[in-house]
Amino acid sequence: MNKSAQLLKDKVVAGGFCIGCGACAIGSAVMRIVETDEGLLQAQVGEPVSSPAPIREEMDLMTICPMSGVGDDETVLAKQLFGPDLEWNEHIGHHNAIRVGHVANQKDREGGSSGGITTWLLGEMLQRNMIDYVAHVIPNQLGGTGLFAFGISSSDADLARGRKSTYYPVEMSSILQTIRNTPGRYAITAVPCFSKALRLLMQQDPVLNDRIVFVVGTVCGHLKSRFFGEYLAWNQGVKPDQLQAIDFRTKIPGRSANEYAFTPNRDYTKAALNKSVFAANWEVSLFRYDACEFCDDVFAETADIVMGDAWIMPYQQDWRGNNIIVSRRAELSAVLEEGRVSGAIVLSNASIEDVVHSQVGGLRHRREGLAVRLAHLDQEGKWRPRKRVEASFTQVDDARKELYLRRTQLSRRSIETFRFARSVGSLTVFKVLISGPVFAYYLRRYGLKRAIRESAVLKMIRRLLRPNRIPFILHAQNKSALEGKPLAK
Ligand SMILES: Cc1cc2nc3c(=O)[nH]c(=O)nc-3n(C[C@H](O)[C@H](O)[C@H](O)COP(=O)(O)OP(=O)(O)OC[C@H]3O[C@@H](n4cnc5c(N)ncnc54)[C@H](O)[C@@H]3O)c2cc1C
Repeated sequence: MNKSAQLLKDKVVAGGFCIGCGACAIGSAVMRIVETDEGLLQAQVGEPVSSPAPIREEMDLMTICPMSGVGDDETVLAKQLFGPDLEWNEHIGHHNAIRVGHVANQKDREGGSSGGITTWLLGEMLQRNMIDYVAHVIPNQLGGTGLFAFGISSSDADLARGRKSTYYPVEMSSILQTIRNTPGRYAITAVPCFSKALRLLMQQDPVLNDRIVFVVGTVCGHLKSRFFGEYLAWNQGVKPDQLQAIDFRTKIPGRSANEYAFTPNRDYTKAALNKSVFAANWEVSLFRYDACEFCDDVFAETADIVMGDAWIMPYQQDWRGNNIIVSRRAELSAVLEEGRVSGAIVLSNASIEDVVHSQVGGLRHRREGLAVRLAHLDQEGKWRPRKRVEASFTQVDDARKELYLRRTQLSRRSIETFRFARSVGSLTVFKVLISGPVFAYYLRRYGLKRAIRESAVLKMIRRLLRPNRIPFILHAQNKSALEGKPLAK
């Protein structure tokens, strides 16, 4: 085994810092991405293979890895990409245009995760001959065990398969191999750490550097184990081994945009609001990758453009959804502007404060929270990657410090507990075992009233007393859409 593969294994993977992006595995004779029994994709060092022909053994895998802290950090990479003159903000990175909005076509908007701008923009880039292909996440058509994977699209119809956010593990090694094998100009969608991995890889791989012409980023809170989707679906009676598909972002007429639902197996009779499920709130962070606790990038600072949810008033009141958009390329800002003028998209200017405010919780967790987590590892004398954030216990008070550490423990414990519950085939076992730590978290964070309101028992009673109206609403929505009637506001 070469030295950098050994370091990757001993430091990044063993330390829980691997995000399973696959950058180290493309073209490697020894690195591969495997799914663990915790539903996480992770790099693994295996027996050397000679096919496909290794292209990368001479490369330093630690430099390519986005989580090792060895290669250039996001700020350095972004400066190289966007130049020293483009305006920069410590929270959102470089920015050429900051907007908020949505696509005008109602069907496309309702079919997207937020405002549907990502799919629209990718379609425009294809139509305007700025790219030949899009690599993005679609329902898995390659077989295997994962429900989603990166795939290639080159038309609007293809692109539509990938709409919506995938809160499910995916990796890039196969799609990057496809890009290496197939000449053309590509755009690729990426969460912040995947975008950083791409940039680090492109520094060393001239073929990928030539072919990937745009990285289209998504704002990111954190990545989830496959257990997240399984847990949601199991609450609706779909057991993990019965889950074949899941829509994580089902929009509900009349609700605010952040009150979305999930739909397992494309069966809307099984759809339910996320908030009706015990501890499914993103703040509690069940099933989060350990590695996400050591990321300091929310706005995909190395992507050419980044889209997120407009979790700000008045936009979040509209169930159809809106995007926040930070563009870092004049040519992409021009596409947006032309779309606005033509009426294809509805856009308004937004301020840095607006977009920062829309992600304020995520930014706090990734910045002051990260400082605490780094200081904690340092105190324990453990290896950890170099970050842009300095280790510190002193930026926050003791209560806040405890909260951050508690969140980390809770997500780790949820994964271990779900693995056990899955093995004994009981969702109740999971809920019973995790309800104590979740209660303790809410109690510390918000006090007794909220802790009781969010408790497993109360959620269960609510579910028994209140019928799940989501399937009826979705049924009515489909019906009125079919009949061409206006949908509820
Ligand atoms: C794991 C994850 C966490 C997120 N966390 C936040 C958050 O905390 N705050 C926030 O404001 N926004 C977050 N987002 C982004 C948000 O959910 C929307 O994806 C974004 O606003 C784009 O919406 P849209 O309607 O323009 O996208 P759509 O038009 O629906 O298109 C989405 C595009 O993204 C691609 N895609 C989906 N999942 C992935 C993935 N995992 N990796 C790469 N490409 C993918 C799809 O293939 C599709 O091309 C997150 C997204 C993901 C995937």
